[in-house]
Amino acid sequence: MFYRLLSIVGRQRASPGWQNWSSARNSASAAEARSMALPTQAQVVICGGGIMGTSVAYHLSKMGWKDIVLLEQGRLAAGSTRFCAGILSTARHLTIEQKMADYSNKLYHQLEQETGIQTGYTRTGSIFLAQTQDRLISLKRINSRLNVIGIPSEIISPKKVAELHHLLNVHDLVGAMHVPEDAVVSSADVALALASAASQNGVQIYDRTSVLHVMVKKGQVTGVETDKGQIECQYFVNCAGQLLWMLMEEFIFGTGRVASCLGALRRTRNQFSLRARTSWRFRIYRKTGITLSLC
Ligand SMILES: Cc1cc2nc3c(=O)[nH]c(=O)nc-3n(C[C@H](O)[C@H](O)[C@H](O)COP(=O)(O)OP(=O)(O)OC[C@H]3O[C@@H](n4cnc5c(N)ncnc54)[C@H](O)[C@@H]3O)c2cc1C
Repeated sequence: MFYRLLSIVGRQRASPGWQNWSSARNSASAAEARSMALPTQAQVVICGGGIMGTSVAYHLSKMGWKDIVLLEQGRLAAGSTRFCAGILSTARHLTIEQKMADYSNKLYHQLEQETGIQTGYTRTGSIFLAQTQDRLISLKRINSRLNVIGIPSEIISPKKVAELHHLLNVHDLVGAMHVPEDAVVSSADVALALASAASQNGVQIYDRTSVLHVMVKKGQVTGVETDKGQIECQYFVNCAGQLLWMLMEEFIFGTGRVASCLGALRRTRNQFSLRARTSWRFRIYRKTGITLSLC
């Protein structure tokens, strides 16, 4: 459904990147899409057209970066992003996660207006239930941190929970936390809206194009090899989701200019420590201020 949606939007766009992409979207056969010529050079190549890749493309292009190519091996937003429940919750344990979630919430709230693509953004609010005092203490800590950074939330009584949600059985609750500005979105549609905006800003998007290998010379990225040819590039941003590590082997002990973007599913301490070995990844991350997670 979202491809058809984007095709409609695509026809209205004038940028060369969008024209390339929308013509691929509108073409009936995969063979036609595959025959599209890739550029031979780019400043930045992004691998992966999920929420991460499209968000990186959106933010880099907004920040004025030029000459960006996004490559997706299948169809846009058809990886984990497609299966995401789309819950945008700021109730996180780490302040950095709370801030990222809050940023995403605000961004997605206005994305529909910016792009004309429906994202399914609905401000539902959320209630976190506590059946034990320990859980309530944990919620109180999260609540305090949210309030410190200006996100409205409050600890509420079981009676108030029943008022907010009539179907909930509250007899065994000791309390709850209410975050009124939490929301839900259609994550695939958000990714497509981000791709749409990025494309309008000049990002060239190619689907059905696989990155096979990242080329490195003296520890620096020089380009990528794809199933449709090579692209020389200065920066490579790895947003391949679950498949991210297949492209990362040569960087684990190197210093290539690579930014790796992990979704919630991939955030483990071990993976973060692997990422920490190459400072460039973090430098690019800080520079771009990308949203790391949907929520
Ligand atoms: C059931 C479920 C529910 C979830 N619910 C939530 C939720 O409510 N809230 C929340 O915030 N998160 C949720 N998540 C997590 C969230 O969906 C993921 O963190 C997020 O979608 C990851 O996005 P991504 O762009 O990193 O990965 P993906 O969406 O998987 O995108 C990676 C893309 O890279 C492409 N790719 C891979 N290798 C290559 C290559 N070599 N060349 C070219 N392209 C390549 C893939 O085809 C894919 O399209 C949920 C996840 C699941 C599975």
